[in-house]
Amino acid sequence: MKTIIEPFRIKVVEPIRMTTREEREQKMAQADFNPFRLRAEDVLIDLLTDSGTGAMSTRQWAGIMEGDESYAGARSFFRFEAAVRGVFGHRHVIPTHQGRASERLLCAAVVKQGDLIPGNTHFDTTRANIEASHAEALDIPIAEARDPENLHPFKGNIDLDRLAQVLEREHHRVPFVLITVTNNSGGGQPVSMENLRSAKSICQRFGVPLFLDAARFAENAYFIKLREPGFQDKSPREIAKEMFSYSDGALMSMKKDAFGNIGGVISLNSDSWAEKIRTLLILTEGFVTYGGLAGRDLEALAIGLEEVLEEDYLRYRIASTAYVGKHLEAEGVPLLKPFGGHAIYLNGRKFCEHLQDEQLPGWSLSVALYEHAGIRACEIGNVMFGRRKPDGSWQWPALDLVRLAIPRRVYTQSHMDYVVEAIGELYRKRQEIRGLTFVQRHDVLPHFSARFRKV
Ligand SMILES: *Cc1c(COP(=O)(O)O)cnc(C)c1O
Repeated sequence: MKTIIEPFRIKVVEPIRMTTREEREQKMAQADFNPFRLRAEDVLIDLLTDSGTGAMSTRQWAGIMEGDESYAGARSFFRFEAAVRGVFGHRHVIPTHQGRASERLLCAAVVKQGDLIPGNTHFDTTRANIEASHAEALDIPIAEARDPENLHPFKGNIDLDRLAQVLEREHHRVPFVLITVTNNSGGGQPVSMENLRSAKSICQRFGVPLFLDAARFAENAYFIKLREPGFQDKSPREIAKEMFSYSDGALMSMKKDAFGNIGGVISLNSDSWAEKIRTLLILTEGFVTYGGLAGRDLEALAIGLEEVLEEDYLRYRIASTAYVGKHLEAEGVPLLKPFGGHAIYLNGRKFCEHLQDEQLPGWSLSVALYEHAGIRACEIGNVMFGRRKPDGSWQWPALDLVRLAIPRRVYTQSHMDYVVEAIGELYRKRQEIRGLTFVQRHDVLPHFSARFRKV
C-alpha cells in the first residue's frame, strides 16, 4: 500500500474554533503582531511548536494513574531512569522540568566565563543559556546547511574540519561540544551516524566531551535508517543506542520525542559533573528523583520514550511531515529542503521577496498566515536570531524561516490539506503581505515578547 495512515485511532477530541478574517486581524493587532501573544483559543491550527503539544496515548494516560508522588525515591523515578538509560546508556539520569532547565543546569555547573561551545546549530534557548553564562555559542554546520535548496541527506551534520580546527586552537576553553539531533534551528535536519562517530573521535583527540541535544533523537534515528547505508535493517532503538554510544552525555527536552506535555532530562557519564548538577537541581528544580516533575509526568515520559521508537509511528511521522512539504512544493511555495522531521520550513525571504530584511519577511509571513487562515507558525529567522551590531546596524541570520511545526499525533491529513491550501492561496497573493517593524524588543530571546507595527 502507498497510503500511509495515522497508526492510531482517536478516543478523545478537543474542539477547535473557526474565526472570521475580521476577528483575526483584530486579535493579531491586539497581540501587537506577535503570534506568541495570541490566545490559543483564537487559533484554528496551531503549528507554533511541536513542544509539549503532542497527544498522549492510552498507555501514557494509564501510566498517569500509576504515578508515584513520593517526594524521594518514587517508583516512577526508577521507571523513568530505566527508560532513559535503556536508550541513552549513560551512568547518571537527572530529571528536569524541561529542556532549558537541563541547559541552564549544565551551563551553571560546567561553563565558565569566556568558554566556547561549538555545535552544529544551537537552539535558541541553548544559545541563550550559553550566553547567559558569558560564554560563546559557535554554530559550525556543514556548508550545505546554509543553502535552503541543497538536498544533502544529512544537513544537520557538524563541519568536522572546522570542529577539528576550533578544538586544535581553543580546546582549553571548550567544556563540551553539543550536537543537536535533529538540527531544529537548521530546519529539522538529521545528523548522520558517520558524522557523530567522527565528531566523537575528534573530541576524544582533544579530551573534550561530546553531548547531544536529543530533543528529536528518534526522528534522527529514523532518518539514519532511511538514508544512511548499512542501517536499513536496524531498528530505530538500535540506531538510537548507537547514536548515544558516541556521546558522553545528553540534554533532552522531553516535550518533543518523549510525547510529554512537560519534562526534560540530563543524562551523563561524569560523576563529578553529575554531582554538581544534582546540587544545583536541589536548589532550584527539586529533589534528585523528580527534578521539577510530578511522579505521573515521569511515568508518562518513560512510556513515551518507548512509544516514540516504534517503527510504525516513525514511518507515519516522517511521511506525514513530508506530505505537507510535497504538496506545498507543488504549489510553488519556497521551502527548506529536504523536508525536516518535525516541521516544514517556509523560506521567508523568498516568499516575501518584496520585503527587506529590516521589514522582517519571515515574521510578517507568520502574521499574514494567521490573518489569512487562523494558522499559527513560528518564525525562526530575523526576529529570533537578528543581532544589533555595536554601530547600531543589524546582522541577519543566514536563513529567515517560518517553521510549521507539527504536533505529534494531533492533527489529521485533512487539517494538513487545509494548511497546504491556505499557504498556497497566500503565496499567490504574497505581494499583499505587509512588512513589520519592532516597537519593543528585549535582547534575550526577543521573539517571545517583542511588539511590532505594520509598515
Ligand atoms: C525545545 C528545544 C529545547 C528547549 O527545550 P524546552 O523544553 O522548550 O525548554 C532545546 N533544544 C532543542 C533542540 C529543542 O528543540
